[in-house]
Amino acid sequence: MERISVFDIFKIGVGPSSSHTMGPWRAAQRFLAEMQEIGVFDEIEKVSVELYGSLAKTGVGHGTDIAVFLGLNGDDPVTVPVEQITAKIDFIRQSQTIFLGGKKTIPFDPLFDLLFLKKETLPFHANGLKFRAFLKNGSEKSAVFYSIGGGFVVKENENNTKTEKQLPYPIDHAHELLAWCEKTKLPISGVVFENEKAWRSAQQINEQLLTIWEVMQSCIFRGCHTDGLLPGGLNVSRRAKAMNAKLLQNIDYQGFEEWKMAINKSSRSFQQILKWVSAFALAVNEENAAFGRVVTAPTNGAAGVIPAVLMYHICFADQISENEVQKFMLTAAELGSIFKKNSTISAAMGGCQAEIGVSSAMAAGGLTECLGGSPAQVLMAAEIAMEHHLGLTCDPVGGLVQIPCIERNTMGAIKAITASQIALESNPANAKVSLDSVIKTMWETAQDMSTKYKETAEGGLALSVGLAEC
Ligand code: SF4
Repeated sequence: MERISVFDIFKIGVGPSSSHTMGPWRAAQRFLAEMQEIGVFDEIEKVSVELYGSLAKTGVGHGTDIAVFLGLNGDDPVTVPVEQITAKIDFIRQSQTIFLGGKKTIPFDPLFDLLFLKKETLPFHANGLKFRAFLKNGSEKSAVFYSIGGGFVVKENENNTKTEKQLPYPIDHAHELLAWCEKTKLPISGVVFENEKAWRSAQQINEQLLTIWEVMQSCIFRGCHTDGLLPGGLNVSRRAKAMNAKLLQNIDYQGFEEWKMAINKSSRSFQQILKWVSAFALAVNEENAAFGRVVTAPTNGAAGVIPAVLMYHICFADQISENEVQKFMLTAAELGSIFKKNSTISAAMGGCQAEIGVSSAMAAGGLTECLGGSPAQVLMAAEIAMEHHLGLTCDPVGGLVQIPCIERNTMGAIKAITASQIALESNPANAKVSLDSVIKTMWETAQDMSTKYKETAEGGLALSVGLAEC
């Protein structure tokens, strides 16, 4: 199976969707890079893009058009100033040109050069897109890519099993991870850290994990201090800011660190903590819905679960050790990898169990690792969290990543905390359901699920909630 780095799972990017925004953006960049490699980039006079399946059906609400334009325009999701996105898109639409690869301006009419083929689906995956480049000599170069969830992209007929990386502790299934922990006497985060060193140095791993956490924290902070309506036409009001203000009862603070201290000193009643976890998750996904900078974890629609649970731990745990963030992230990432290898992290393939369910399982495992759980308890926590998301459908109202997505992150976070507490009070030897078996069940459920519940906005709440009600 593929070898997946922690930083393949946690990636800095832009909302609202990893599969429908980040993936197509990366695919556009890859297509242009390939045109450079084969030496035809300078010959390109025109480009066009076709979106298929789920990308076509919910692409407008998920910002696929914007992602493709920016990818073709030479912008990168990690570095693009998010506050400039609207102006860049307006310019492309009004000028009917694109700054191809950030190198040359060519004509580009968004209405005709990007097609949403809602009735067609390509064979390999529900999220297919085809790029065409028309050259000066009249010939054409084209390539098909699939956005397979979590921002991962594969090219048609490409072997995406990156087995070339030799890891000291190769892991495809949860039982193998447990076996390595037993053999090495390392915790799960220790095993994952050793594997990650196949990609980068120990110092780089620690630094990059802290960078990821900084982006997550900034996202929570911004979300807790921004109000107004979310874009897209559903008239969804942002709520995190009002919750934050009410929870802190207008206590004065300056900047992020003082804010965190204020939270730490605030009431620790069950209700208040529940509200804080919800506010953290809402904050991230409101930012995500507003094309803000988020960390894909393991998707953008579910980007709030992991930051909310880690923030809860950092703010409210009795004791915090120095490497808490690293332990949490390394554990969560490995669990996400195991889900990706044996099931899916794409809602277009598996519904929302693949997004919120997986992120909840990852967060439950990460939290249990930080709270001193054994490796078996970590896996048990992840299993419990997923077990109670099985069958969860994806039915985004209006095709936007807002209803039910934003609130659903709060549910994923709370379930993760509950799952962790249950696992810490349990003997995994008595567990009847293993993590591997729940992942297998999730995949079987995904295959049985009607396509109308797989990120198509053709069923569930997407049908029963009229847009006029929003
Ligand atoms: S319903 Fe779930 S899977 Fe579907 S877009 Fe929303 S968060 Fe993603």
